[in-house]
This record gives sequence, structure tokens and C-alpha cells, in this order.
Amino acid sequence: MLDFSRQYQPIRAEIIAAIEQVCDSQHFILGEEVRRFETAAASLCDVAHGIGCASGTDALWLAMAAAAIDPGDAVLTTPFTFFSTVSSILRVGAQPLLADIDPRTYNLDPVSVATALQDRAKSTRVRAILPVHLYGQCADWDKFTQLKQKFDLLLIEDAAQAFGAKWNGRPAGSLGDLAAFSFYPTKNLSAYGDAGLLTTGNDRFADRARILRVHGMRERYFHEVVGWNSRLDTIQAAVLLVKLRYIEGWNRQRQERAKVYADLFSGQGLAEPGPYPDRGVVLPYVDPRGTHVFHQYVIRAPRRDALRTFLVERGIGSEIYYPMPLHLQQCFAGLGYAEGSFPESERAAKEVLALPMFPELTDEEQQRVVAAIAEFLS
Ligand SMILES: *Cc1c(COP(=O)(O)O)cnc(C)c1O
Repeated sequence: MLDFSRQYQPIRAEIIAAIEQVCDSQHFILGEEVRRFETAAASLCDVAHGIGCASGTDALWLAMAAAAIDPGDAVLTTPFTFFSTVSSILRVGAQPLLADIDPRTYNLDPVSVATALQDRAKSTRVRAILPVHLYGQCADWDKFTQLKQKFDLLLIEDAAQAFGAKWNGRPAGSLGDLAAFSFYPTKNLSAYGDAGLLTTGNDRFADRARILRVHGMRERYFHEVVGWNSRLDTIQAAVLLVKLRYIEGWNRQRQERAKVYADLFSGQGLAEPGPYPDRGVVLPYVDPRGTHVFHQYVIRAPRRDALRTFLVERGIGSEIYYPMPLHLQQCFAGLGYAEGSFPESERAAKEVLALPMFPELTDEEQQRVVAAIAEFLS
């Protein structure tokens, strides 16, 4: 599914030297590399501010805390995402409201969001929409921008899977009022441990986020607001600074790998138009307005679980992102949703399958994957 060593070997010397330099400087907390990484990453994202923090989960929390999303506020998002998109809303004390996904892109559907905004109880104060750029493809930002204007809302990007993705030529991280990135080791831009980044073009939000990540202190031991300890580790920043030099190339290689998959599936006559699979597989839909960086290559397949077992028996890895939509999770039962609330999310959870995808994947490996799937479907 993933072979990290193929990325590490060619850059090993640079990484070790960067870590060594941090050790020599002995500045492990918010050192020089953190500032340099924040500046370089914000510049690549074409946004004024980058604020490093401990994880993508914390970046989501910081985004909402910086924007003063408080108890009594609600935030609208998707149930078809990683856990922390929703848990971070609860962490600032706000109420998560959910809407269904577009079955082609798996991203939050602006039409469902508009309906949810119209249907909400009058007492519910919706402050923000939190779309996720799932699998490395930006959510429909044209439509979300219209909703932002119509309903006077903030837009927050969960860009954890989308470093380098674009919408109408503009990078993820610069689209919303705030955006959250994760550099968890499996992400397309990844650290050697936990790390995250908040980006924003808003000076006030940036200033607030900078103090929130250090216990609300501007001056040491004088606390302006109740913050938290969520700093980006200097060693992780040093690793990320090295990788930042390669990320565009790696994203391009991912796009090439996606093209190889598409050609192989089409060549075998297995690609179907979708959005649901019949006897073949539905390939990822790429919105022409965006630049998909293929953090994951996700197909829809009939008899998905049997296919996955079949692949395991042939030594081929695959993953399910995500097997259970968040509104059906035990811990979120209190949100008031049930089976049937979001049919597209529930159906996607039963049909999606992520195939091996990383920049160094080879043609031969991809041929093996597609041949095995062809054998299963024959
Ligand atoms: C990985 C991920 C997160 C959380 O990031 P961490 O760094 O693991 O805390 C949040 N949202 C999405 C969509 C993710 O994929």
C-alpha cells in the first residue's frame, strides 16, 4: 500500500543533516526551522500566514478557536471524513451539523449544505462551513464561496490530504478564511512524527492562533486567553523543510501514477462511468476546475469487501477510507443522526477502495494490482 523507504533513501543525507543541525542548535521548541517552514509553506500555498502546530487535528481546533467559534455556534461539515474533522468542532464547544457528499468526488455537496442551512432551527447560529479536500481533491469552492456570501459564513478548509492541490489555479490553504494541514507520516507531505499547520490570510486570526498554541501567552507567563500546548516540533519542521523542496515533483508523480491506473483499467474494459459500480469499477472523478494531487487513489467496486480479501491473498495492500461515516459512530450518536440520514456517505463507505498510491510506485506494481482486480471481476 505504501513504501516509505523509497522516498527516504534518495533524501536520507539531507534529512539526517537537517536533524543534526537542530540537535547542534539545541533549539527544540519553536526554533529557527519552525519559522522558516511556516514562511516557506505559506508561500507555496500563496497565503499570508502559516502557523505550525502539533497535528492536523490541532490545526483544525486552532482554526476554529482562532476564529472564536464558540459554544452556541454550529459548524457544517461532512460525515465522510476522518474523525477529527467533527471532533475538533466539539472540542471548541460548537455543534457539528452534517450534510451529505457528492457521490462522484466524495466531497461535501454544496446542494446538501444549502438545504441544511435552510432547514436548520432558527436558533442555530451557523458560523462556518468546513469542507474536506478528500483524497487530495479540492471541494467545489465556487459553490462554497457563493454560500459564504449568501449566509455570511466563514469557510474553513480541512486540507489534511491536499498539500499542493488547487482550485481554479489557487492552492489549497488559500481558498478559505482558514485552513488546516496534517503532516502525519502517511500524508502526501509528511513529517517523521506528528505535525500540523494552520494557514490564513487574516492577520487577526493568525495573531490569535500564534498565542493559542502557546497557552495564550504573548509574553512568557502572562496569559491573554486560555490556549493550549500545540507547537510544531523543530525537528519535524526541519524534516518538512527538506521535503518541501520535493513536494511538487512528488505530487506530479502521483498524478502520473493515477493516469497509469486509469489507462490500465480502461485498457481492460473495466472502467465504468459511475457514480456507482455495476460490473466494473468506477475510477476517481477529477473535477476539471481543480488540480487533484491523489493523496489517495480511490475506486468504487462491486463486492468491495470480497475484492479486498482477494487482493490480500495476492499480497496486494488496499485500504478503506472510511468504512463507517461519522454520523453512525457510537461516540457521535448524540448528534441526532441515524442510518439513512446521509445515503451517499453510507453507500460510499460500502463501495470505496483505496489502491496502492505513492510517487515511487512502479508500472509493474500497478499492472499487478489491475490484473488482480480484473481476475476478481471476471
Ligand atoms: C489526517 C487527517 C486529519 C488529522 O490529522 P492528524 O495530523 O492525524 O491529527 C484531519 N482530517 C483529515 C481529512 C485527515 O485525513
